[in-house]
Amino acid sequence: SLTIGIVGLPNVGKSTLFNALTRNNVLAENYPFATIEPNTGIVPLPDKRLPILAKLVGTEKIIPATVTFVDIAGIVKGASQGEGLGNQFLANIREADAICEVVRAFEDDDIVHVNGKVDPADDVDTINTELILADLQTIENALPKMEKDLRGNKIDKSVMEAVLKAKEILAGGETIDHAANDKRIDKADIADLHLMTAKPFIYVFNVDDDELQNDALKEKLAASVTPAPSIFLNAQFESDLTELDEADAEEMLHDAGLTESGLDQLARVGFDILGLQTYLTAGVKEVRAWQIHKGWTAPQAAGVIHSDFEKGFIKAEIVSYDDLVASGSYAKVKDEGKMRLEGKDYVMQPGDIVEFKFNV
Ligand code: GDP
Repeated sequence: SLTIGIVGLPNVGKSTLFNALTRNNVLAENYPFATIEPNTGIVPLPDKRLPILAKLVGTEKIIPATVTFVDIAGIVKGASQGEGLGNQFLANIREADAICEVVRAFEDDDIVHVNGKVDPADDVDTINTELILADLQTIENALPKMEKDLRGNKIDKSVMEAVLKAKEILAGGETIDHAANDKRIDKADIADLHLMTAKPFIYVFNVDDDELQNDALKEKLAASVTPAPSIFLNAQFESDLTELDEADAEEMLHDAGLTESGLDQLARVGFDILGLQTYLTAGVKEVRAWQIHKGWTAPQAAGVIHSDFEKGFIKAEIVSYDDLVASGSYAKVKDEGKMRLEGKDYVMQPGDIVEFKFNV
């Protein structure tokens, strides 16, 4: 499954956040046989629709989709030169599918900042510089063979152009992800290089808990770094939340003026930047969210339940969540003509509740 690597300078709150994430783990009961590495946290994708659906179809069992985080220790200045745990650090990032950078924005004189002062923009710059330098090295290593392949007509000129463009972007101190968001480069053209800064980025700003509603501060923080999806949370507060039962956690969130925990936001945004979406199944046995890639067709979606469903795919019977909830039952939604039969070219849409018809 796709993973999000959590990185950041020392003492920014990574462990506090990661421990809160793993404590939030309600999955043991659903996936009793999953082996979970100690540095891996598998958390449920928050989905308020699931309990509503469960009530509607009359089941108690709910299985959410999941988001997998990996705690990647060891970033230091000079990682790209193999300093400290540098090589291991970079190897671990290469394995992740997205990068979540935890950035310290909380003030606490008792907790030493590695660079001597709290400066979120500078912290992001430190980390991104190491990733950019490592990517430049990757390109330098690949170029001699590419030049040879170009002369031998084994690769297209456009491939070389894309790689040189990537080199130029990186040499200018920018990540490929950022340039791609601005449509200055297409990640698909350089996918073979597996560059680290071509992975989607997400920033987690660890702010003081009394600043959680300070929108001006959030805007300032977001503006101080390369634009990317950003979450603002207080790691200690999130950790405290996970110690409480659901009702107390709800109350603590409410008292802080929040409607969703930072961990839930992180899971949601992380799932999204991985390019994933869900579809739902809802029956008396269980209500479940299934993870697929955005743009997948109905047979591909069927395949995540069982490969036979994909091979023998005939049709998908689909109703949208909103229609089902508005009608109140499958029978009624069918009467209203809102149940659709979709074929093998249908592209799955958010909110689809599905029953697959297949040959065995
Ligand atoms: P890591 O090195 O990035 O994993 O950072 P840790 O999670 O170990 O946190 C470093 C120190 O900062 C610990 O003493 C934490 O208790 C503290 N800390 C973490 N998050 C917060 C926060 O949001 N506010 C404050 N004041 N301290 C925090």
